Amino acid sequence: MAYKVADFKTEVHNDWCPGCGDFGILSSLQMALADMDLAPHQVVIFSGIGCSGKTPHFVRTYGIHTLHGRSLPFAVGAKLANPDLTVLAVGGDGDGYGIGAGHFMNAGRRNVDITYVVFNNGVYGLTKGQASPTLHRGEKPKSLPLPNINDAVNPLAIALCAGYTFIARGYSFDVKHLKELIKKGVQHNGLALIDVLQPCPTYNDINTKEWFEGIVREEKGTRQTVNPRIYKLEQTGYDPVVHDPTDQDEIDQKMAQAFLKTQEWGERIPIGIFYQIELPTYTDRLKQRAPNPERIAPAKDPICDDLGRPTTDIAPLLESLRVFG
Ligand code: SF4
Ligand code: MG
Repeated sequence: MAYKVADFKTEVHNDWCPGCGDFGILSSLQMALADMDLAPHQVVIFSGIGCSGKTPHFVRTYGIHTLHGRSLPFAVGAKLANPDLTVLAVGGDGDGYGIGAGHFMNAGRRNVDITYVVFNNGVYGLTKGQASPTLHRGEKPKSLPLPNINDAVNPLAIALCAGYTFIARGYSFDVKHLKELIKKGVQHNGLALIDVLQPCPTYNDINTKEWFEGIVREEKGTRQTVNPRIYKLEQTGYDPVVHDPTDQDEIDQKMAQAFLKTQEWGERIPIGIFYQIELPTYTDRLKQRAPNPERIAPAKDPICDDLGRPTTDIAPLLESLRVFG
């Protein structure tokens, strides 16, 4: 059966602000799932807390709205329990790079085959625009009484050092480009980060659509952008892929060029895939040492025999817990 974008939409009321970049990410996600012809029941999306945390409510797949900063451990657990599922985690920059920073970094050590899409707008939008970990020093969006005194974290550079095997950045108002990035992230066999630059028109009046796309000139019905900050890596001949994962020299060279690209910000901001390498996933590693590799996924274990009788006998367990008599 061929699935359409409409198959991934729900009727749930959406209260994101008009003009929010979240809408572009939602559309990209729904379009990517339809393009990959995944059945809704084959996909599960976990979210944390924030404006982006509402995403699973708007996508007709399995969806779990979890806790602040905790979407990744839920997503990792689901993938390990049932490797047949396509698993995504979504969340904001405050959610994933602030309170969830420990999970964000340590997920890289495991290379579980999931895709993490971060709605990065530089503020805590849901709680009225406080500075998030990705807001740059000296910037003063309208909710801040004084310019931000902290330096920004660089999520792509952290992901590179932490072991993510697919690292990309998208832009929420380039829906077709972002759709392709999400597809490539999902199809990548390993842990994928897609950090998405997402204007928050309500609270971040610095990193706006106009700021990312260039000065907009509108004359006599024409619209022109001048000096756009955003550019696409793939249009510069940049090759992010490690073609031979056993070649340490190539890995070093591709990591070095990716790191340099992660440092670009300001007048020129790259989007696209920064780095990609195929390495054994956590499930591959588990299978290598499991006495029965076919039984490492609990969701795939039979729970009853052909006649519907439970295959698990919990009587010994209950007996071991007996306190009286
Ligand atoms: Fe979007 Fe910002 Fe409104 Fe949240 S507060 S829905 S991020 S515009
Ligand atoms: Mg945010």
